[in-house]
Amino acid sequence: MQVVIIGAGIVGVTLARALSRQGAKVTVLDAGGVAGGATGRSFGWINASFYADASHFALRAAGIEAYRRLCRDLDLPVQWSGCLCWEEEGAALEAQAQDLQELGYNAEIVSRADMAWMEPAVAAPEQAVFFRGEAAVEAEAFTRALLGRSDVQVMTGARVEGIKTTAGRVSGVRMTGGVLPADRVIVAAGTGSPDLLAPLGVSLPLLPRPGVIFTTAAVAPVLNHVCVAPIGEFRQLPDGRILMPTAVAHQADEATQVADRLDVLAEAACARLQAILPRIDLHWQRVAMAHRPVPQDGLPVVGACGPQGLFTAVMHSGITLAPVVAEILTANVMGKDSELAALIAPYRPERFQSAIS
Ligand SMILES: Cc1cc2nc3c(=O)[nH]c(=O)nc-3n(C[C@H](O)[C@H](O)[C@H](O)COP(=O)(O)OP(=O)(O)OC[C@H]3O[C@@H](n4cnc5c(N)ncnc54)[C@H](O)[C@@H]3O)c2cc1C
Repeated sequence: MQVVIIGAGIVGVTLARALSRQGAKVTVLDAGGVAGGATGRSFGWINASFYADASHFALRAAGIEAYRRLCRDLDLPVQWSGCLCWEEEGAALEAQAQDLQELGYNAEIVSRADMAWMEPAVAAPEQAVFFRGEAAVEAEAFTRALLGRSDVQVMTGARVEGIKTTAGRVSGVRMTGGVLPADRVIVAAGTGSPDLLAPLGVSLPLLPRPGVIFTTAAVAPVLNHVCVAPIGEFRQLPDGRILMPTAVAHQADEATQVADRLDVLAEAACARLQAILPRIDLHWQRVAMAHRPVPQDGLPVVGACGPQGLFTAVMHSGITLAPVVAEILTANVMGKDSELAALIAPYRPERFQSAIS
């Protein structure tokens, strides 16, 4: 079976690896480069503590488990650091921990003294919640590493102009120079996905959700966890730089446009970070913006759609979700059963289809 995947972000590449391991002949096409979209500018936090409802929580928790399976097989740039979260305080923080505990999540309240021991460089809050099972991934390096270990063909600088159908089935993708034949086409093109799907009668409305993220110059190792504070989320990369989205609570950030010049945003966020890490001398060095692929209802869109042989996988929190979605969608594409299939039942593309025709 010849499968063409449009998009070499983390979603397209994890799928490509999973499909090739099931015997499919896979080609990945990207208009830019590998991880050149949202993936390469993500915060890289793998978590289920941010969730919309019980189904979304279950999918995210399964996402963490899927990373564990991948990390058992391969040496990948994932740090199983856990996360310390003190975005809320007092009763709200206790309620957050309790809600997650009731869902079976490892969420433990830690005191100021514990915090001071766990993160000595941070101006410690009264309490925090420790999510022991959470992790962080260097998403671009991870995507490249997976690709390097996969038996798939990749074409970069290869924009797909359209998807060809013959007698109601996908038969290839149109690109400069001609049509590349395919038995199955998977649109994993992030914010480029709606334009590819619309001509086939498939509606996938996305919200405008730009995200801005910066890194500081490298400092000595000072942070041990993903930290989620009222001033924003931050973590230290293995090379010493500290990474932080400029928006507070970036996962729930609903800004539809970038509020200021990128350097102004980075300066302001770095000043907030400096206040919470008083003993470290911080300077921001790189700032970048990317459009997050956020479907209209904020939830993933995964599964078959439109003509026979067409599938899509588009989502925010794609870093957390890519490996589990790859496992489930691979079974779908190959016509096999997956014991995880029920996890994506709420996220089929059908829910947006009344918007067209
Ligand atoms: C600032 C920021 C912080 C984030 N933090 C987190 C986080 O902590 N945890 C988390 O889980 N998620 C996070 N996310 C979200 C996450 O990064 C995305 O959900 C994920 O990267 C989506 O991956 P993707 O492969 O679907 O899309 P992308 O990485 O955007 O890849 C899509 C690819 O498709 C290609 N493409 C588009 N159109 C075409 C075409 N016509 N032909 C060929 N190629 C095409 C593009 O060139 C691109 O490379 C964050 C995002 C941002 C911006």
